This record gives sequence, C-alpha cells and structure tokens, in this order.
Amino acid sequence: MRIELENLEGSKGDFAHVYQPEDLNPVDERISLTEPATITGKVRLAGNEVFVNGHVNTRARVECDRCLQPVEAPVDADFALEYITGSEYELGGSAVELTEAEMSVSVFDGEAIDVDEIVNEQVVLAVPTRMLCREDCKGICPECGSDRNTGNCSCAIEDIDPRWAALKNLK
Ligand SMILES: [Zn+2]
Ligand SMILES: [Zn+2]
Repeated sequence: MRIELENLEGSKGDFAHVYQPEDLNPVDERISLTEPATITGKVRLAGNEVFVNGHVNTRARVECDRCLQPVEAPVDADFALEYITGSEYELGGSAVELTEAEMSVSVFDGEAIDVDEIVNEQVVLAVPTRMLCREDCKGICPECGSDRNTGNCSCAIEDIDPRWAALKNLK
C-alpha cells in the first residue's frame, strides 16, 4: 500500500492495513511471518517533510541462534519515521537536524509513502538479532551436527573433566 500525499486532506491522515504474510518481504531473509501483520498510523505533512507514526503487530518466525529450530516472536512495535524529499536532502537544508534526530529519516520521492516498506523494516527491527528457542538451549554439536536438545550424541565424551584426564595418564 502507498499513501499518495496529494490525496491527504488538510495535510494529514490516518491509515490502517492488514497484510497477509505472503504479501510481505522482510528485508532480513531469516524472518518469516506466521500471522497477518496489522499496521495503523498517522501521516502528517509539514513543508517538505512527512512524519509517519504508527504501530505494527504480527508474529515472526526465526531460527534459534544455537540449534536452528524455528522460534516465534511477537512483533508489537511503535514507530516514528520522518521523510524528506530527495531534493531537500541534496540541498543539505536539514543536514543538521538529521544528525540530531533520534527518529530515522528516509529520503523519498515526495509523492507517496510506501507502507509495505515500513512494515518490512519494522518487523526486522522488532525481532531480536539473537533469538533462542529456550534460555538453556544446548545448540548443535560442533562435531556431528546433531541437536543436543534431543539427546546427547557420543561426541559428549570429549567434555571429560581435565583433572580426571590427568589422573588417567598417571596409571
Ligand atoms: Zn535452540
Ligand atoms: Zn556430536
């Protein structure tokens, strides 16, 4: 969905949309969605700048950082974005504000805001870069590649206490 700025009445407007998971394409390929994504928000035009505030809600699936099994994470994120037109950016008129601003600033064509892009980005931002299926996930054995959560593989013998190893050598 795109919000055409010329269609805004009184330089502002509300928007809401529900995306099916297959309609989206999160910029991080590790992430897929298991539920429709709902986005709601407000657009406000101020001169050459556009402010977009809103909320994204869905569920994402990623791989556990240690064992690669799928893990689901709720996405429930507020966002505050600022857009300026490309010409404004090149003039450097807002350069100082850009570095001061805590909110993210994007350059756009001055005609429309791409809501698909917002959802795709916000989903990635909302999912932690490292996710574990459970806090004590044992991960994958570096020797044989088996999932250590489903049982110990025979490689576990190597974890022998070094003090015992030393005793063994004495005999
Ligand atoms: Zn895991
Ligand atoms: Zn193993």
